[in-house]
Amino acid sequence: MVPDKIFYEPAALDYKLGQKLKTKFEHLPWIPIESHNNIEALRQNENREFARMKRHLIIGVRKSLTYTPNQKVSDYLVPYTSSGCSAMCLYCYLVCNYNKCSYLRLFVNREQMMEKLLKTARNSEKDLVFEIGSNSDLVLENTITGNLEWTIERFSLSERSFLTFPTKFDHIDSLLPLNHRGRIIMRMSMNPQEIIQKVEFGTSSLHARIEALNRMGDAGYKIGMLIAPIVLVDNWQTLYAQLIDELANSLSETTKKQLFIEMIFMTYSYVHRAINVEAFPNAVELYDKSLMTGRGKGKYCYRPEARTEAEQFLREQLEQKLKNVPIIYVV
Ligand code: SF4
Repeated sequence: MVPDKIFYEPAALDYKLGQKLKTKFEHLPWIPIESHNNIEALRQNENREFARMKRHLIIGVRKSLTYTPNQKVSDYLVPYTSSGCSAMCLYCYLVCNYNKCSYLRLFVNREQMMEKLLKTARNSEKDLVFEIGSNSDLVLENTITGNLEWTIERFSLSERSFLTFPTKFDHIDSLLPLNHRGRIIMRMSMNPQEIIQKVEFGTSSLHARIEALNRMGDAGYKIGMLIAPIVLVDNWQTLYAQLIDELANSLSETTKKQLFIEMIFMTYSYVHRAINVEAFPNAVELYDKSLMTGRGKGKYCYRPEARTEAEQFLREQLEQKLKNVPIIYVV
């Protein structure tokens, strides 16, 4: 990401990372703000400004460090060093929280966040898994801040527990030589290349994601894979069958041995539709009335019969082609 301007809370400059970013981006305009949560000038922009706003970088201090219990691949969702993202997936879950203001916000008080992680790990009687990437894509964020390297080096000194994060990016070179001591679980999100191209704007290609996952596995990291979100476009059977073929052919044996799969169907919303129609007028329409139904608060999900058919299809494909890789949940 190449930002065009920085909006910052002045207090962020009291932190080392704030200073580092100030130096890195000194050639850009820096605009002081009261709070990263409410930048009036940006909130008032039209939806069609969405892509332009994604080039802004917001720098602040994270106030709430409250963990949310979780039951999927982690014990807790942890608010971490960023929220929002500079990529532009048409269905991005962050749009539900931040609406058109889902640009990338960086939080510079990482020492405080790390201290809480280490303390919680230390005080627990069992190994915990902390999901640190539920609000952002940390591999992408790392290309700006180096936060993932910083995190892995520090957290891996912990005698207990694990960190996990999902990603759609292949920028993992700087992570490979780190001494992670098996405490990090990276989960790569996969989709057919046609869906990546038409829906997941600004993310890495399927080929690059597969390669990155193999390399992380070879470097001894724990690894997982999401088939997510499953998007039921017209030719979905063909696309997902091809995806699973490609995964079966290109994932290394080392990767396959330790992999697990999460499958997540796409959730869409009224807000996504309103933004996408103005910001990306030529993009594919993800709302399909015949396949979707309302799910509270302006959200849409696939109707049960469509989901069941697709889930059965995907399970059969995976059983044929990636037989020994466990599916740990489907939602
Ligand atoms: Fe949202 Fe993830 Fe896409 Fe970024 S990469 S826009 S966080 S779905």
